[in-house]
Amino acid sequence: MPELNKKFKTLQKTIKSYNTKSDMDMLKLAFEFARNAHQGQKRMSGEEYLYHPLATAQTLAEMKMPMQIIIAGLLHDIPEDTDLTLENIKEEFGTEISNLVNGVTKLGTIKYRGIERYIENLRKMFLAIAKDLRVIMIKFADKLHNLKTLYALPRNKQIRIASEVIEIYAPIANRLGMYEMKGKLEEEAFKYLYPKEYNWLKQLIKEQIKQKEKYLNKIIDFVKLELKENDIKYIEVKGRIKQLYSLYKKLLRLDKDINRVYDFVAIRIIVKDIPTCYAVLGTIHKKMKPLKGRIKDYIAQPKPNGYSSLHTTVFTIEGEIIEVQIRTKGMEAEAEYGIAAHWNYDEKGSKKTTSNTKWITELTQWQKELGANQKFLENLKIDVFQDRIFVFTPNGDVIDLPNGSTPIDFAYNVHTDVGNQCAGALINNQITTLDKRLKSGDVIEILTDKNRKFPNPDWLKFIKTSVAKNKIKSSLAKRTLIDKFLKK
Ligand code: MN
Repeated sequence: MPELNKKFKTLQKTIKSYNTKSDMDMLKLAFEFARNAHQGQKRMSGEEYLYHPLATAQTLAEMKMPMQIIIAGLLHDIPEDTDLTLENIKEEFGTEISNLVNGVTKLGTIKYRGIERYIENLRKMFLAIAKDLRVIMIKFADKLHNLKTLYALPRNKQIRIASEVIEIYAPIANRLGMYEMKGKLEEEAFKYLYPKEYNWLKQLIKEQIKQKEKYLNKIIDFVKLELKENDIKYIEVKGRIKQLYSLYKKLLRLDKDINRVYDFVAIRIIVKDIPTCYAVLGTIHKKMKPLKGRIKDYIAQPKPNGYSSLHTTVFTIEGEIIEVQIRTKGMEAEAEYGIAAHWNYDEKGSKKTTSNTKWITELTQWQKELGANQKFLENLKIDVFQDRIFVFTPNGDVIDLPNGSTPIDFAYNVHTDVGNQCAGALINNQITTLDKRLKSGDVIEILTDKNRKFPNPDWLKFIKTSVAKNKIKSSLAKRTLIDKFLKK
């Protein structure tokens, strides 16, 4: 297996390039552990099975993920596909890594099977993400390699997996601001879902690039020179091509006329800080006239998923139209890796680096969009989270409740004692009545009274969940018994 060893060396090298303090012994151990577990197994493509977890780990390393995530990537298929168990992983690698692997295994049951299941799946994903974002990163990397070896599967499976990626994984990657990942997932899935269109577009792009390459280089040189003359330091000026699937979707809206797509190729300028971004914009506009209504300041007003950058579309000296994107290095990393960008170079406590509050804003924003964005739901004609709400504990844990739930429902869903001792509640730091209906995104804090032993029977009149109902009834039954006993 020299080929596999070589791949493992590449993995080590990739990790070392961004994380010099990483625990290579642990990684080696995980590699041997996985090799052992998958011994003799082959994938549908005929390849040694180990190629798959290795490719998953490699993708995670290229995303500059911390070591535990990469190790979990190496181990992710062991509980389900081998004789070794989660318990074995826990013994060898500890709770954190085994929890990650467990999360991936649980998500493994998500499959795209039409609209009804789709909603259920989205909800499952949503909850998994809220619980531990790292799990979804591993799942993305896993899916990406599955897509790359999709050729080995029968046509019906190809379509199912590709649809699952387009309908579930890619929108989530997008929502998390992981454009790079979204683009890769979509491109691979696109190939299988619409092979004719894919080949047509590939060919079209090839011709376009041939046509535009020269002039693109000319403009890049021109921009570099202008910046130098104005004493503006830049880190990089480069050309970039629009992601294949989003280009396809745009072309469908424009009668497949590529000449009407202004951002098919763009120039991207990376600089060190925000003031420099604006200075660059000024310099560009001095030399190249901007198109009306195409200047977008996503730095002052970032997109809902956090994307920030300056965009402008200009007439070049060659008389062509081109989009220019200006951003800092940090913004570039965010656009590529989204939320995951915050974990780079960070070995321990990766969860802490993404603050809980930012998380909550992002998740609730997503839900708002899902609820309001008809385009996204056009084909579904149904509100994904219509009948459920997601609320948060003060620590940022997500509680999934049916619509119309109250603080009492919340309390009993957290813990029976919290329910029984509930003396009041705060919603988003405001004192509230206990029959108040909760909204998605609310942060709920339950005030408890330790001396209180039994619930108020009146609560039964307004609560929504059967969990709360049953717990209240059984507590009240206990009280009746005790009362009887005391009277005697
Ligand atoms: Mn896998």
